[in-house]
Amino acid sequence: MASEKIVDIAIIGAGPGGMACAIEAKLAGIENIIVVDKASTHNDMIHKFYKKGKRVDRDWMGIKFEFEGNVTFDECSKEAYIKQMDDLLASHGVLDKFVYNTEVMNAVKGEDGLFVINLGEDNVVKAKNVIVSVGRMGKPNKPGYKFPKAIRPRLNFNLSKVENGERVMVVGGGDTAGEYAYGLVELEGMENCKVTLNYRKAEITRMNPVNTEMTTKHLDAGTLLNKMGVDVETVEATEDELVKVNFTDGTSEVYDRVVFALGGTSPKDFLVNSKIEVGKWDEPLMDEKTLETNIPGLYTIGDVVTDQGSIALAFNHASFVLNDIVAKNK
Ligand SMILES: Cc1cc2nc3c(=O)[nH]c(=O)nc-3n(C[C@H](O)[C@H](O)[C@H](O)COP(=O)(O)OP(=O)(O)OC[C@H]3O[C@@H](n4cnc5c(N)ncnc54)[C@H](O)[C@@H]3O)c2cc1C
Repeated sequence: MASEKIVDIAIIGAGPGGMACAIEAKLAGIENIIVVDKASTHNDMIHKFYKKGKRVDRDWMGIKFEFEGNVTFDECSKEAYIKQMDDLLASHGVLDKFVYNTEVMNAVKGEDGLFVINLGEDNVVKAKNVIVSVGRMGKPNKPGYKFPKAIRPRLNFNLSKVENGERVMVVGGGDTAGEYAYGLVELEGMENCKVTLNYRKAEITRMNPVNTEMTTKHLDAGTLLNKMGVDVETVEATEDELVKVNFTDGTSEVYDRVVFALGGTSPKDFLVNSKIEVGKWDEPLMDEKTLETNIPGLYTIGDVVTDQGSIALAFNHASFVLNDIVAKNK
């Protein structure tokens, strides 16, 4: 890898939850952290979705909140709230920890016990702990063609529905597509799946060296079927409601499932791709007090955890998680 750095905490998402974690970490004496956000600024959801001049309430959705950590805000307008947060981040000296315009697709723990955070273009950070604070607003990118109703359950954005023995086509040319494709070929319990990789270009150009090597190895061995260099034109339902894919070169193939990895990620995709167990409503299963998931060192906070989220709750979650990380590293 071109650059590889180890941090104590990687925080994914710089909304209220993520930025509060950065401040709580600093106050706990943990300086070696990184905060990554796909947007170009912290509190981006608030920039984008709150109306101009909107009052930012502390008690939100009828729920009364008390601040339990070090990060708080005074009720004010949207603009004044952003200013308060700018000032807080600056006064705690953490602004240089933030990396913007970088989407993270997952946080997977390696055999060395460290989480791998892929920042793109060969830039990988390893983390001892990860806090997932990606909110609920993310969406995976969809292709331009229509998804017929009858086969919608077979058109997916992650591998969670794949069953052993299925013919699965993965669409995309980036790291996630590669990891899905060769990952499925190698996945224990999925030995009977027939996996195809489709990418509009004939060559792999957008994957990091490890994923390029692994994907190429399987394409060369024929364990991963090659449908590269051609685009999908449409998808339609066969009589038995399988997926018929019509390609731009006039060929067609039938699959049990098509998995799109075209960038963008929903909170659920992030959780599933990071191997976090989710419940019936796609909520992460975690310890309610510490917010640690089934994977030690991997935490989820803020709106990812609840559909009744608020700024104060996200701030409080940040404090609970940092208390736990500090306690476990004493
Ligand atoms: C219109 C509206 C009004 C609201 N008004 C209030 C109010 O008055 N008071 C109140 O307390 N609450 C209010 N809320 C709720 C409050 O905004 C949320 O509960 C709060 O923002 C949650 O913070 P969060 O950090 O969990 O998530 P978010 O604020 O959603 O932040 C998530 C961050 O993660 C980033 N991200 C997402 N995916 C990735 C990825 N894969 N890689 C890298 N970065 C990623 C996003 O860009 C974003 O910056 C309101 C919500 C809405 C929609």
